[in-house]
Amino acid sequence: MKKVLILGSTGSIGRQTLEVIRQNKKHFQVVGLVCRSNIDLLKEQIKEFCPSYVGVYDKKNNLREKNIKSFYGEKEILKLIKLINCDIVVIAISGAAGLKPALTAIKSNKNIALATKEVMVLAGKLIKKELKKRPKVKLFPIDSEHSAIWQSLRAGNKKEVEKIILTCSGGPFLRKKPKDLETVNFKQALNHPNWKMGNKITIDSATLMNKGLELIEAKWLFDIPVEKIEIVVHPQSILHSAVLFQDGSIIGQFGLPDMKVPIQYALSYPKRLKNNLPRVSFTELKSLSFEKPDLKTFTCLRLAYDAIKIGGTMPTVLNAADEVAVELFLKEKIKFLDIPKIIFQAMNKHKTIKNPGLSEILLVDKLTRKMIYENYQ
Ligand code: MN
Repeated sequence: MKKVLILGSTGSIGRQTLEVIRQNKKHFQVVGLVCRSNIDLLKEQIKEFCPSYVGVYDKKNNLREKNIKSFYGEKEILKLIKLINCDIVVIAISGAAGLKPALTAIKSNKNIALATKEVMVLAGKLIKKELKKRPKVKLFPIDSEHSAIWQSLRAGNKKEVEKIILTCSGGPFLRKKPKDLETVNFKQALNHPNWKMGNKITIDSATLMNKGLELIEAKWLFDIPVEKIEIVVHPQSILHSAVLFQDGSIIGQFGLPDMKVPIQYALSYPKRLKNNLPRVSFTELKSLSFEKPDLKTFTCLRLAYDAIKIGGTMPTVLNAADEVAVELFLKEKIKFLDIPKIIFQAMNKHKTIKNPGLSEILLVDKLTRKMIYENYQ
C-alpha cells in the first residue's frame, strides 16, 4: 500500500489522480490533500478518502473538520509536506507555485510524481542537484510525453540513446498561419482537439508554448541536450513520445489520450496495474501522421529554444511572462498574438543570472510578473 499526498487535489490532474486511486484502493491510500481554494470539492474529497492531513493555500478558508490536521497558507503547507509520512507526493499545482513544494518534498526524502512542468523549467538544475544528493528519492514524471519517454527509456541504457522524439498534437490552430491567428479568441483557443485539460495548459497548447516548456522539462528530466530532442507534430496524440536508440530502433509509448494512464504509471511504478480504460485499436484508427512544427507561425516555441540556450534565469522569465500573458488573454485584455510579443519583450529586457539559487529564481519570477502587470493595468 503506497501512501499518497496530493498537492492540487481539486484541479484537473488532482481529480484524475483521485479517480485512479478510487479504482485501486488496495494499492493506494490518500494521506493528505492540498488545494488552493475550492473548499466545497475538497470537503467532498475528504469525506470519500479520509486523509489525516489537509491544506488550503487560501488562508481565508476554515475547514473545521474533526480528526484532521489542517494547514493554511504556503508556509504551513510546506510544514505539512515535511511532517507527513508518505511514499509519494503528487505535485499538481499549476505554474511556478509548484516549485517550493517540490523542493520541500525532495529535501524531506519523499518521492515526487511531477505534473507541474514549470518546476523543471524554472529550476531543473536545482531539482537534479537535490535529487543527486539523495539517491533513494525518485522523481516520476506525470506529463504524458515525459511518461512516454521514461517508459521507452527502460528499453535500453542512457548511453545508447541517440535522440528523444517529443510528440506534439499541434493544438487547435495546427496548420494556421499568422494572419489566421490575428483574430482568434479564447474560446477557440480553449477548444483542444484531443485533451481535456486546465485553461493555462490548453492555451499553451494553442501557442505551442506547452511544447517549448516540455522541451526544457525533458532536457532536465532526462539529462539530455536540447539538440538531441526532436519535436514532431502528431495530430492524433496516440504516440505520446519515443526514444531513438543508437541501433536505429525506436521505442515509443502508444495509448489513447487520457492522463489517468501516466498518472497511474507514476503511482504504480515499477509495476503496471490493470485498468479498464479504453484501448487503442490500430485497425480502427484510420492513420497516424507526423509533420514538422511551424516555428515561423508559433514563435513561442522558438522563444523556448532561445531561453534554454541562454539558460540561467531566462527560462524563468519565459515561463513567468507566459503565465501572465495567458491570464491577460483569458481576461480578453490582449490578443492571441500578443502572447509571444509580451514574452519576447520580457526576455529582451532581462539580464540573465547564470547559476541562480531558489531565491534568485523566485525573485526573477516575481519581478517579471510585476513588470508585465504594470504595463497592462
Ligand atoms: Mn504534455
